[in-house]
Amino acid sequence: MSVRVVARIRPLLKKELDKDVIVRAAAAEEGKPFTIVKIPNPKNETEEFSYIFNSVYDQSCTQEDLFNAEVYPHIKALFQGLDVTIFAYGVTGTGKTHTMRGGMKMDDRGLIPRLLSNVFRRGKKIEKDSNGETIVDVHLSYYEIYNDKVYDLLEPPEMRTPMGLPLREKEGKTFVVGLTERPCDDVKDFERLYVEANNNRVTAATKLNAHSSRSHAILRVKVTQTTGDMVLESTASAIDLAGSEDNRRTDNNRDRLVESAAINKSLFVLSQCIDAISRGDKRIPYRESKMTRILSLGQNNGITIMILNLAPMRSYHLDTLSSLNVSSRAKRI
Ligand code: ADP
Ligand code: MG
Repeated sequence: MSVRVVARIRPLLKKELDKDVIVRAAAAEEGKPFTIVKIPNPKNETEEFSYIFNSVYDQSCTQEDLFNAEVYPHIKALFQGLDVTIFAYGVTGTGKTHTMRGGMKMDDRGLIPRLLSNVFRRGKKIEKDSNGETIVDVHLSYYEIYNDKVYDLLEPPEMRTPMGLPLREKEGKTFVVGLTERPCDDVKDFERLYVEANNNRVTAATKLNAHSSRSHAILRVKVTQTTGDMVLESTASAIDLAGSEDNRRTDNNRDRLVESAAINKSLFVLSQCIDAISRGDKRIPYRESKMTRILSLGQNNGITIMILNLAPMRSYHLDTLSSLNVSSRAKRI
């Protein structure tokens, strides 16, 4: 199991151009790529904290740059049977959805549509190179975890039961019982499903008077390669996590408190898992939250990439520090 923790600092938006920028990317040595995030100590602004990552991307990083650096290199491994898991972690408004889903224009497309188009392309190539002996199938599931309950996003929100979908263990792996798996043959198929599912997500949140940033959205792309009786199966998971901000400070509505507790716990367990995996520990505490359990995080021989999204402005100062502190491998020096 290998894990990378990288940070992406987003640019200021048009309406933020007058804002004070306090977060910056730095290199360990001049001329080297960025691996450090620097941010002032809020108690003494003459002092700066540094956090080390495997890689740091600054305002100039495009969607294509990020995909080429962090995801494309693992597509080959996915087709060799390894599972690939990509998380976007960070405060609401820092660019998680932009990173994972992105915009509608070709250049703005995020990691997910780029991943899918590369998976389809590689699958078609494998079929062609094997003269049709190998068949490549792609199936999608998409679900969210809200208040520690699992809901299928490929089903309309009216179909939801209050308890959500149950989990079951089989051969040491955790499964969501009754989760829809839809076959998907090309980018057009994918886009249709993805738009429909994201609409389901927003509709469901609106009904509860909540916001979709309060749930974790998990897309699973199952790749099955069949050659005669030989079947090779692997999964790419792309996760847009709930916002990591501590909204207990500003909003003490009871429902929001319940949400915050569920979100904080699962993000804490996630960071503990990432930490344990990166240290090479045998015991990964993946059973302690639904999200890490469903992903069997650390139990598979796979690749995990966590992207910490950061906004550069002073108004995010404390939340940015706390998300830097939680993204475990990022050591404070
Ligand atoms: P989150 O999902 O973390 O709440 P969003 O992805 O919705 O954050 O991003 C907040 C806003 O910032 C959106 O308007 C988004 O388009 C914009 N944004 C985020 N990252 C970038 C980026 N790298 N380049 C340009 N705009 C960005
Ligand atoms: Mg979002």
